[in-house]
Amino acid sequence: MTDPRPPIKVAVLGATGAVGQTFVRLLKGHPWFELAEVAASERSTGKRYDEVTRWIEGDMPRAVTGFMVRACDPASVTAPIVFSALDSSIAGDVEAAFAAAGRLVLSNAKNYRMEPDVPLVIPEVNAGHLALLDLQRARRGWTGGIVTNANCAATMAAMALAPLHAAFGARRVFVATMQAVSGAGYPGVPSLDILGNVIPYIGEEEPKIEREMQKMLGVVAADGVRAAPFMVSAHANRVAVEHGHTVCLSVEFEREPTVDDAARVYREWKGASAVCGLPSAPEVPLHFFEHNDRPQPRRDVMRGRGMTVSVGRLRRDPLFHLKFVAMGHNTIRGAAGGSILNAELLVKTGRVGAT
Ligand code: NAP
Repeated sequence: MTDPRPPIKVAVLGATGAVGQTFVRLLKGHPWFELAEVAASERSTGKRYDEVTRWIEGDMPRAVTGFMVRACDPASVTAPIVFSALDSSIAGDVEAAFAAAGRLVLSNAKNYRMEPDVPLVIPEVNAGHLALLDLQRARRGWTGGIVTNANCAATMAAMALAPLHAAFGARRVFVATMQAVSGAGYPGVPSLDILGNVIPYIGEEEPKIEREMQKMLGVVAADGVRAAPFMVSAHANRVAVEHGHTVCLSVEFEREPTVDDAARVYREWKGASAVCGLPSAPEVPLHFFEHNDRPQPRRDVMRGRGMTVSVGRLRRDPLFHLKFVAMGHNTIRGAAGGSILNAELLVKTGRVGAT
């Protein structure tokens, strides 16, 4: 499609945090969206963005340095598309207020992900789930809406499983994660807790991974999503890596594939055609490695400008059928970049302005 002219104004809620800053970076020079407003907590409201933001990576885009930080309410923030990188303690009420006020909210928070009428979307995997917006508006009387993206580790796991689930039907899935420190926000995990260490607990992470994978790989019905019928068991670990969540999966299928069958599926998989050509879509959504020692966060996390999920180490599993490793950028594909891609898909499918 041709670029919307003029570009569509967008806002970032929680713009001072780790994911909020990633939105600000990724929106710089975006061909369809113009970052017009930033908002955060009372601590920051009414102050300049560069005064209250401890910028984490590279240089802050010059255009936003002098933005005044607004309050997170629809009277202060006027953009029709709102990216939410809010802490979950506040996201529930704030995002609902924006949706009720006719805005499209693209949320990274956990609050609405598992609601039956709220799409939980990875565009290449389940673009069709955006149809839930109609149910959401009918049920809640909102003129806008909320579209969520998944927990960052669930995103990597679901993307890696999606092609094999479609081909062979997953029955039982075992997942163990090694998650980067940037997944804990800023300032996140104290350095003395994580340097040279592995922390085998991330609050609420395991049930999120288990449920969200089932929802994303499920099918849309009249009253919500029928969860995919496979069982998931997840272990979540925090490791001393800056960016990039690594996820090891072992999977049993309805129809047992050979390693070659599965490798062929990965090589041929391109994801939903609706996503092709969107500004944030990577040319290759899943990069399949044949090398024994990949993917690795240090070498592969920025593949496809941080939007490609890498898969490798595909081999037989003596307990289940196959095992493999997936890795992707947690604040780009697993958060801000995923949300922006969702918004691009909403624009392409005519859902922006269609209230
Ligand atoms: P973070 O660095 O702690 O940032 C939180 C943001 O929320 C800040 O901008 C903060 O503003 C704002 N905020 C906090 N309390 C608020 C309030 N009462 N009213 C308005 N704004 C408030 O967290 P993060 O890692 O960026 O995560 C943001 C969200 O994305 C969370 O829901 C998280 O679970 C989710 N997520 C994170 C990742 C990841 O990899 N980090 C991945 C997927 C999803 P102030 O600076 O003004 O306090």
